Amino acid sequence: MPADDAPGTVHFGLDLTYACNYACPYCALPPVLKHRSVAEWTRAWERVHRKYGRCYIYMSGGEPSIYPGFYELIEAITPMHTIDLCTNLSWDVDRLIPATAQDRFKVSATFHPTQVPIEEFLPKAIRVRDYFPQRFPPRRSVYFVADPKQMGRMEEYSAMFERDGLVLVPLPLMVGNAPGNTEEENRSIEAVSPNKDTPDHKLEYQLRSLSPRGKLCRAGQRYAHIRGDGLVDRCTRYEDRQLGDFFSEDFELFSEPKACTQEWCPFESQWLVPERELAGPGARP
Ligand code: SF4
Repeated sequence: MPADDAPGTVHFGLDLTYACNYACPYCALPPVLKHRSVAEWTRAWERVHRKYGRCYIYMSGGEPSIYPGFYELIEAITPMHTIDLCTNLSWDVDRLIPATAQDRFKVSATFHPTQVPIEEFLPKAIRVRDYFPQRFPPRRSVYFVADPKQMGRMEEYSAMFERDGLVLVPLPLMVGNAPGNTEEENRSIEAVSPNKDTPDHKLEYQLRSLSPRGKLCRAGQRYAHIRGDGLVDRCTRYEDRQLGDFFSEDFELFSEPKACTQEWCPFESQWLVPERELAGPGARP
């Protein structure tokens, strides 16, 4: 069994529900759809486990803990796959933590200060931080939407998190499908983002100084994004559902990377084929 996030592991994003218990000013969710049952999801994930082995599921929404049967679903899927829950932390964390093993269950918390004060969010984040993915060792990430309505205290929040071994990761604002930050706001994002100067140029793709257009990407091959109705896109930037229906018996991923046709990649640029791989085996590291 590969480690939860080992090279070669297939990843999925999953919009489990479009319902949310918060009303953040920067979030425009699609209409809430009829939920698939725990039994339907469990059968589909069993089939995917037979085909691709243990996968890494980035479970999002909406707020996934609103899904009816949330705790049962986590308990049914974590023996097969690793779940990384993108959440506002408003649920009963003690019901799953520490009962669920850290290598099977991760918590990607997002802080929404228009809905919950830092004094309420931070103690809960500290309680569950051992479950936060270590994307920026030695610190664990807390996500934060870079909306000008809440960016005024972004640096202060970042310093508060840092004192407890956490790192604030700003996410670029989207307005509809378009970038929503000004150049000045981009500079504020750059000032605190741990993605600055990383080998995969994550921040450059987020802030649009690099475009993915024409580059080969493994989104669709080693990763795909499942919408709330079960139809699948190669990533969140595509809306053509070209990978078909996740609940279909013959659902499968692309057999090879394909060129990206988007101008902007705010979230999933880690799936671009690295230049050193394109250059071939003799390339310098
Ligand atoms: S580069 Fe980004 S936008 Fe393009 S296919 Fe890959 S993940 Fe999607």
